[in-house]
Amino acid sequence: MSITKMARAQVQALTPYQSARRIGGQGHIWLNANEAADSGEYQLDCARLNRYPECQPPQVINRYAGYAGVTAEQVLVSRGGDEGIELLIRTFCEPGRDQILICTPTYGMYAISAETNGVGIIDVPLRDDRQPDFDGIIKQLDNVKLVFLCSPNNPTGDLVDKTGLLRLLEAAKERALVVVDEAYIEFCPESTQAGLLADYPQLVLIRTLSKAFGLAGIRCGFTLANPEVIGLLIKVIAPYPIPEPVAQIAAQALSDSGLATMRARVAEINALKATLAGQLRQNAQVKEVFAPNGNYLLVRFTPGSDVFARMGKAGIILRDFASKPGLSDCIRITIGNSAEMDAVLQILQQEQ
Ligand SMILES: *Cc1c(COP(=O)(O)O)cnc(C)c1O
Repeated sequence: MSITKMARAQVQALTPYQSARRIGGQGHIWLNANEAADSGEYQLDCARLNRYPECQPPQVINRYAGYAGVTAEQVLVSRGGDEGIELLIRTFCEPGRDQILICTPTYGMYAISAETNGVGIIDVPLRDDRQPDFDGIIKQLDNVKLVFLCSPNNPTGDLVDKTGLLRLLEAAKERALVVVDEAYIEFCPESTQAGLLADYPQLVLIRTLSKAFGLAGIRCGFTLANPEVIGLLIKVIAPYPIPEPVAQIAAQALSDSGLATMRARVAEINALKATLAGQLRQNAQVKEVFAPNGNYLLVRFTPGSDVFARMGKAGIILRDFASKPGLSDCIRITIGNSAEMDAVLQILQQEQ
């Protein structure tokens, strides 16, 4: 008897998320997962590791609330932003009946989490101007529990238009939750929608320490929403989701000096990004540089496959999006350190 046949049909049929780590590759310059180029230094106190940790470590919650400008009751901490996405689906969507709505091309985990939980997916693709098709989404609201928007959008970099978002929030009242994924918001903090949380109980934000805070390795993310939503998520989350060392490191990252370190890193990345974008635009192999709002640039090359292969041969691992609808010849480049950006440009400028 095959063990595989014992698994749920849904799981047997599943294609796992093609994470940068799973795709892998040979290389010494990793610019494929939107990780930071450095991490930072942290102290660990191991005196209490014999005890189970707090479900929602108060210092982490309080510091994140202070940082985000919301109350502690509006914050949930989870094992990465990805667990926040999964918890929303498990909390609000009835398997086999309910659906989520996504706007492709976008972050892959919304669809993966829905599939693994037996929840349907409605795709209302981005418009040609790469904004969500708000009219199209509003028409589908009776059929969905959660609408996932991503701002800045991974991989295109665009910010969700606020007027459209407000229209969607009004239409979604008492029908669906609107989730705005702000995993990259530190790179354009003035564009956060956190100011709308107080007025719109149907709004949810996803945040993470994996990108601007340089802590992808500790798996720590946040969900911001009104206290009623947070209370429901806490019913579903595991009893001890945040390991004690993770809570200690997260609290340090969210201290005043931790926030200053993060903001210095963001300033450096944004400067390197502006330089790289300018140099790319002058290169004959570059057709288009997409919106520069995250710690990455999506670039359309002529042709992309050739550039991707040349980079790979030189040990530079990028993320290829060429197979995604509307993104032919597109490659996403994470902004690393300045030596890494020089290496990218050098390969691009080599004689072919
Ligand atoms: C990286 C990312 C996340 C969450 O990442 P975690 O490492 O699980 O916190 C969420 N959304 C988007 C769009 C991302 O790129």
